[in-house]
Order: sequence, then structure tokens, then C-alpha cells
Amino acid sequence: MADQLILSSPLLDYVRDFSLREDDVLRELREETAGLPGGTALQINPEEGQFLALLVRMTGAADVLELGTYTGYSALCMARALPADGHLVTCDITGRWPSIGVPYWKRAGVADREQRVEDAFAVLGELLAERGPASFDLVFIDADKVNYPRYYEQSLELVRPGGLIVVDNTLFFGQVADPAFTDANTEGVRALNALLRDDERVEVSMLTVADGVTLARRKGA
Ligand code: CA
Repeated sequence: MADQLILSSPLLDYVRDFSLREDDVLRELREETAGLPGGTALQINPEEGQFLALLVRMTGAADVLELGTYTGYSALCMARALPADGHLVTCDITGRWPSIGVPYWKRAGVADREQRVEDAFAVLGELLAERGPASFDLVFIDADKVNYPRYYEQSLELVRPGGLIVVDNTLFFGQVADPAFTDANTEGVRALNALLRDDERVEVSMLTVADGVTLARRKGA
């Protein structure tokens, strides 16, 4: 018998009933997003959004970078958890999906966060040039999976010692553990997981939350 809980629907409902504090703005954004093609797969779970917000508060992060905005549910969660002088940069290769989130960000009073419509490599390069290394407290990686190892390497340069990198979908629908899957996305996630396992630059915890969430804290502080 596996010693890890497999989350049944009733149990997930229970988790949500007894811990989720999603307000109307978040719920309405999530419901609108769920109606989009691929919406439920691409959007993070509400309990994961709440977890991200808690991570921002726990780490005292003031400068947060997100790779992969989609419709901005996670950005909204993290932006609201920032201190008054905090700053969030989020990027996506298209403005189409983030534009859906903008009215919700406005309603929540966090529309002043910085949104860039560019691929994540371009943004990572720009931020390194503009702000320099170690200029972020927390980076949330949730862009295309093929490039996960490279996003991680550049994020590690951008995050300060003691800062946190949070990577989404590190179990990738369970496909990482199934040799039948050899597509580029699954291989990208696998490559990152292998890199993280042996990476002495960080402390790591792989959580079986949602679709797998890995926390990597940069050593040195
Ligand atoms: Ca994701």
C-alpha cells in the first residue's frame, strides 16, 4: 500500500470546505477561467493559490517574479500577500489570457503589478540586466515545461540567497513516473526534477500538493 494519500473527490471537497478562504474576486476569476479552453488544467487550484499567498507572507517576500501568468489567478493571490511597497512581475508569451485577469486585479486593488507580454527567457534576461542578480525574494515558475531546467537556472541567479523558487506541475499529471510518456513537456519536468535532486545550491522539498509543487530555497543566507 502506498503511504501517500490519493486525494479522492470527497477528500478534496473536505480540504476546500475546511481550509479554503477564496473570496468573490478569486472565485469569479477562477470560474471565468474554467470556461476557457484548457482552463482548468492551466489554472492553479484554489488551495494552491492560497498556499502561494501564505508562502509570500511567510518568507516576507517583497519582490516576486512569476513566469507564466495565464489569467492571473496565482498573480492575484501573490500580489495581495505582498507588503505595501512590494512588487510583482508576471509574464506570459501572450497578452490574451492575462487581459482576462486585469479587471479582477483592478477590483482587488493590485492592478499596479507589472505585467510583461514576452517569453520568459526575454523577461529573465531583462530583469537580470535591469535589477541585477539576487534581486528577487521569490520566483514562481509555471511557464512551458520544456524549458523548465533553463528557467530554473536563470531564476536561481535572480533570487537572493535565502530566497525561494517555487515550481509548479513537478509531478506533471503523474506522467513523470510513467516511462510511457516521453513527450518534450514531461521530459522537461523530469530534467528539472533530476537537476533539483542533486543541486547543492538549494534546499529542496517536493510537495504532492495539486500537480506537484517543488520548493527550492537558495542557500547562502
Ligand atoms: Ca501550472
